[in-house]
Amino acid sequence: MADDATAVQADSPEALRYNRIRRWLGVADFMAGFTFLIVLLGTGWSGWLRDLAYRLGSQNYSLSLFMYLLLLLVISKALGIGLDYYGFSLEHRFKLSTQRFRSWVWDEVKGFLVGLVLGAVVVEVLYFTLRQWPQHWWILAWALFMGLFIVMAQLAPVVLFPIFYKFEPLENEDLRRRLVVLSERAGTRVRGVYRWKLSEKSKKANAALTGLGATRRIILADTLLDNYTGEEIEAVLAHELGHHVHRHILKSIFVQTAVTLFGFWAANWTLHYAVDRHLFDFDELSDFANLPLLALVSVVLSFLLMPALNAYSRFNERQADRYAFESIASVEPFISSMNKLAEQNLAERTPSKWVEWFFHSHPAVSRRLAAAQEWGRKHTDPEV
Ligand SMILES: [Zn+2]
Repeated sequence: MADDATAVQADSPEALRYNRIRRWLGVADFMAGFTFLIVLLGTGWSGWLRDLAYRLGSQNYSLSLFMYLLLLLVISKALGIGLDYYGFSLEHRFKLSTQRFRSWVWDEVKGFLVGLVLGAVVVEVLYFTLRQWPQHWWILAWALFMGLFIVMAQLAPVVLFPIFYKFEPLENEDLRRRLVVLSERAGTRVRGVYRWKLSEKSKKANAALTGLGATRRIILADTLLDNYTGEEIEAVLAHELGHHVHRHILKSIFVQTAVTLFGFWAANWTLHYAVDRHLFDFDELSDFANLPLLALVSVVLSFLLMPALNAYSRFNERQADRYAFESIASVEPFISSMNKLAEQNLAERTPSKWVEWFFHSHPAVSRRLAAAQEWGRKHTDPEV
């Protein structure tokens, strides 16, 4: 609980309802995916789809593997489109969206194609290594996968994000000057700040640090830039700069590297176990009808690791917040920007402990505000 001196604004019934439905939507989505994979394996439909893929792919292994992936993605999209649409209409129901139905459909199409391309690269690499090195494939697959991951982290701001949103360099002189001062004080340089045209789709506001090396940049939603004061935006910039100074993207990649290595090891173990005991109708490692089993390992692991990865993310967020407190003249604009963001995004300010522990990548707004107030008290009081 926050202390008495801190008047924490209570969550509106609307915010509570919105966040509860969103969480259930997430759980339903996870359960649907999980069930789909279990059914594919348990019924032998995966083997049937593999045979169909071989016919479609003229018996060529790589082409048939692609066809198999395509069939799998089409079926899962068809099964999941109802939940996706529910998510779209939920944002409208709570007046958080400005996106038209047509634009949403177009995003769904683009999202599907991006998933297909990235998925195809991953599965082709996976089964190439599986065929060549049945015992140690997972180490090489892991190295190749991480290489791809790093390339994608670098390309995302210039290739991936622009598929869905427009970005343009920030042309506000006042803000540019503020950023230069902040950066100089930090002894670092961020290569760019971009205006992110989020307003075309949403009323929510957001900001992020993205990219690697030459593509490293801070993106600020226009919904934030147009409605917040210079001081408030500076506070948000300072937080994002905190992520940059503390090298959070690089550190997260290292964490990802370790998690992925364990994931590939577990996938290899599971695959050998299933094949050796003839649990399903695939008797070879390279039989891609076992892809749902690999996906299942990854889904279960991400679920189990979610609290730990979220805790790590919250630790980074607290560090970025502290960096912001130190770099701005007063914590007041930080506090008012947090309040505005919570209101605008219909965020839950005081989620229950376990909800925060399991689901939240950011500390609860109430905690972030309390930390800012605490810092303000310690550093602005004239000689206590
Ligand atoms: Zn952050």
